[in-house]
Parts: sequence; C-alpha cells; structure tokens
Amino acid sequence: MFITRFAPSPTGRLHMGHAFSALFAESLAIRERGKFLLRIEDIDKNRCRKEYTEGIYEDLEWLGIRWDSEVLIQSTRFDEYKNSINILREMEVLYPCFCSRKKIEAEQSNVGLAPHGSMQPKYSGNCRYIGPEERENRIAKREPHSWRLDCGKALSITGQLQWVDRAAGTINVEPSILGDVIISRKDIETSYHLAVTLDDAYQGVSLVSRGKDLMESTHVHRLLQCLLDLPVPQWYHHKLIKDSKGKRFSKREGSLTLKEMRDSGISAEYLRRELGF
Ligand code: GLU
Repeated sequence: MFITRFAPSPTGRLHMGHAFSALFAESLAIRERGKFLLRIEDIDKNRCRKEYTEGIYEDLEWLGIRWDSEVLIQSTRFDEYKNSINILREMEVLYPCFCSRKKIEAEQSNVGLAPHGSMQPKYSGNCRYIGPEERENRIAKREPHSWRLDCGKALSITGQLQWVDRAAGTINVEPSILGDVIISRKDIETSYHLAVTLDDAYQGVSLVSRGKDLMESTHVHRLLQCLLDLPVPQWYHHKLIKDSKGKRFSKREGSLTLKEMRDSGISAEYLRRELGF
C-alpha cells in the first residue's frame, strides 16, 4: 500500500511553502491510489500552540486537501520515544551531552529540531570523550543533559547503508554530514529525528515526502531505522518554492501566511494554480 504524509509543526501559521509540500504529497497519493496522512509534530512544548494546530486543519481544508483516517499527534507518543531511547542506550550508541543551552544554540543543526537549511555548524563531539565514571557521576548529580547519537559508532554497527530518493536516486548514508545529532533533548526527552523516524514507521509510510531542506536529516533517519529494526521507506525530497524575490518561504523570514492570503481575498483555486496543482 502506498502511504505518504504531510507532517507540519504547529509553531506558526502555514505559508506557501507548506501549501506546496502538502499538495505535492497529496498528489502523489492520489496518483498512486494510496493514502495521504497528516501528522502534527508538536513535541516542542515551548514552541507549539493549539491554535496553530487548529490553523493547520483550517488551512488544509481551505486548500481542498483531504487526509485519510486519523491524524497522528506526536505529543501522544512520548512513551514510544522513551522506549526507543532506552534501546539505543542499551546498544551504547548514545552518549550524554552536558553542554550548555547557549553552546547548543550555537550549534543549531543539532538542537533536535527539524534542521531546515544546510551549512549549519555541527556539534564538536566534546562530550563523546567523557569517561563512563564521570558520565555516571554527573547524571547521578542530575546535571542536565541531552543524549546524542555517536554516529561513527552507530555506522560501525550497521555497516554502510543506502537510501533511495525518487528524485536524487540511491544515496550512501553519511551521518557525519550532521554529526552527532541530539536524539533526546534535555527539555522534551525526544527530538525531531527520533520522533519522525518512529512515526513514519508506525504509520506505515512507504514514501516520505518533504522538502529538500530536510535531505541531510535522512542520513540520520536511515541510520536510526537500521538500529531500531524499522521498515525502510523511500523518500521524495521535493524542490523548495521561492517568493517573487527569489527567497524561500519560511516562518523565520516572516513569509505571508495562507490565512493572510485568504483574508486578502486570494482564492484557494488561484493559489493551487500558482503552485502548479
Ligand atoms: N515537522 C517538520 C517541519 O515542520 C517536518 C517533518 C518531515 O516532513 O520530516 O519542518
């Protein structure tokens, strides 16, 4: 069964980039006579809001998008994330990282959020070299810590892996691209990488459709799938659409939201046509 999905985070209202991504995934499912699922990625309690989740439903309905069966809400799955963290810890592919938030913020790609865009600094690997005794002592003293994937060690267990992208072909896994990413954040005890990998498997997603900006993350996800013995889907990292100034749509850049466009009188039909659907 062909199953794909759209997995937005309710950290703001959707913009044109989201509309393209959702329409792209839905059109694949229609073409393949498969299922199109919706998942709300709301693990980050500090940034996600209920009204933004409502906004996602409202905007997708307005666009005329129909999703199959129940919506999966990530914040209901913390127990599953915890189980997998324990498995990975037993495999000794995770290590505690005691680096301060400030330092972690400087190493943005590794904070455990969906790392949109490339060229972000990697974690130095500092805490990988802390000995077992010191680790235990610091944990026993309740020193705040996250858990990072020792990607070199993980790959030495799994052996060389590959993944298949519908647009880019077969790609060798190179987890060193993102480095030792966070698997369990200090504050929420999971991360984008872990949650997305487990949930795509749980929902039986056979084709992970998302923007090219998340392509680097797939190296980590493929590695996690192998470590956790999960089924392996295919991927389709689609192009990123740009605004009239040639800039990518993003929350950070303050792109016009679908709601703002709707309120200004733009129709869903016009927008779908503009996006090529
Ligand atoms: N929730 C992620 C985001 O908002 C996307 C996850 C994915 O498609 O893999 O960027």
